[in-house]
Amino acid sequence: AEGTHMDGCLFCKIVAGDVPATLVRETESTVAFRDINPQAPTHVLVIPRVHHPDAASLAAAEPEIAADVLREAGEVAKEEKLDSYRIVFNTGSGAGQTVFHAHAHVLGGRGLQWPPG
Ligand code: 5GP
Ligand code: ZN
Repeated sequence: AEGTHMDGCLFCKIVAGDVPATLVRETESTVAFRDINPQAPTHVLVIPRVHHPDAASLAAAEPEIAADVLREAGEVAKEEKLDSYRIVFNTGSGAGQTVFHAHAHVLGGRGLQWPPG
């Protein structure tokens, strides 16, 4: 269930090409695509191809791939010409996590408030 494809996982289906997405970047270990319900002018999700339920689980199991996700988040920001942006890992339903396949949100192109609420 972890480390490869997980049946029924939406983001594993995007990795497999079984659910369409607007791809932004791909690497051997990651896929970046536009969020279907954007919360900012740039709202891109960066995910590992392997399945882990959240970012901390990914980092514990496969730290090199967690680093790849972070590096790709920065590459997305550069491609989108964002000088200020936010990388978010919602973890747990109380924090708004709805898809339990690790993903970084890259948000930018507008002012971002802190604290986020
Ligand atoms: P979470 O709430 O788990 O941190 O983030 C999940 C994100 O996935 C949400 O921002 C949601 O809009 C996005 N999302 C959900 N379903 C799809 C989909 O089918 N395609 C794309 N591109 N994004 C999706
Ligand atoms: Zn998955």
